[in-house]
Amino acid sequence: MGTDNPWANQIVPFNACAFFVTNRPTRHYLLSIALLLLLPEFIWGNEATKPAPSYANGAPVDSNGVFTNDKGDIAHGSASVRVPFMLRRFGTYLRSDKGAPEQIQDAAAQLQANIQAGQPAVTWVGHSTTLVQIDGINFLTDPIWSKRPSPVPLLGPRRYVAPGITLEDLPVIDFVVISHNHYDHLDLPTLVALAKKNPQTVFFVPMGNGKLLRENGITEVVELDWGQTTAYKNLTVHCLPSQHWSKRTLTDTNKTLWASWAVTGGERRVYYAGDSGYFPGFTEIGRQLGPFDLVIVPIGAYAPRAMMLESHMNPEEAFDAASDLGASKALGVHFGTFDLSDEPLAEPPQRFLNTGSSATAAAPTPWIFKIGETRSF
Ligand SMILES: [Zn+2]
Repeated sequence: MGTDNPWANQIVPFNACAFFVTNRPTRHYLLSIALLLLLPEFIWGNEATKPAPSYANGAPVDSNGVFTNDKGDIAHGSASVRVPFMLRRFGTYLRSDKGAPEQIQDAAAQLQANIQAGQPAVTWVGHSTTLVQIDGINFLTDPIWSKRPSPVPLLGPRRYVAPGITLEDLPVIDFVVISHNHYDHLDLPTLVALAKKNPQTVFFVPMGNGKLLRENGITEVVELDWGQTTAYKNLTVHCLPSQHWSKRTLTDTNKTLWASWAVTGGERRVYYAGDSGYFPGFTEIGRQLGPFDLVIVPIGAYAPRAMMLESHMNPEEAFDAASDLGASKALGVHFGTFDLSDEPLAEPPQRFLNTGSSATAAAPTPWIFKIGETRSF
């Protein structure tokens, strides 16, 4: 077949490699482009859109060698606020339990029904204690079954409502996350009872808290710093910042770390805030690890404000925190169970629900449970 194309018999396959290797200006140009494209990889790793979080190198330590917050130590109000508050605490025995959360009667049956259904679920035991069930794993947040959170059992703040689930009715607990060493969050009698019930239960604690557990015979303890993660079966446990402080004796202020926790798996992503004032860390954690299917957030112990502002959120701040974290559901806890602060017992849940009802459609759904209630999520 004839053709007028003079090149018809001279077409040679284009050898790209040979061209780039032999054509020096082109080679330099392409190498520069390749380097430019790879630059984010060298600087930020493979998550170019997520620069390393401020907590990547662990919690800050101050010049005295004790832990502190990103913003420094938190304020607890002047003596003119603190002293009257302490005096009011002595009246705690006289305070009625009007407004304390209701307790559901068939809590154990409801929990069992959910276990049978195999749904991801959360149960409110009371205060900050929740049982979370995701990816076939059961874990507890800051478990406290004791009647009083106190170094002197007879003198501490009273418990208004009994735990929603008995220790006996709990499923096998795979692990526990502890936020800090205040007595209403790190309850030794409960931890010892849980370890006795199942010696395989792992206790994840922020830096410096392991010693206390080990001294009390608990061996499966993992200490983590802010920004550290560890695998538990098919889940990842993340130790993260909170804005708080620690103290258990007269001489140990801030010698052990406080933290919040995220537990992420293929099925669900959960965040537990522990105790915290409202701080920019929520936005950063949300950006790094969110969105979360469930955020468990403290909404009580905010009054008097001048004293609690930096260490405890009010219900509106707690709702904002859940929004910052990219929560789908926000479960309010840390209210109504122990007599810890001045606000009326029924105020935190009401304000939390009100805040949620006026929020936009994209905002978290605020959840307030009765004690012992289980919901799937
Ligand atoms: Zn605390």
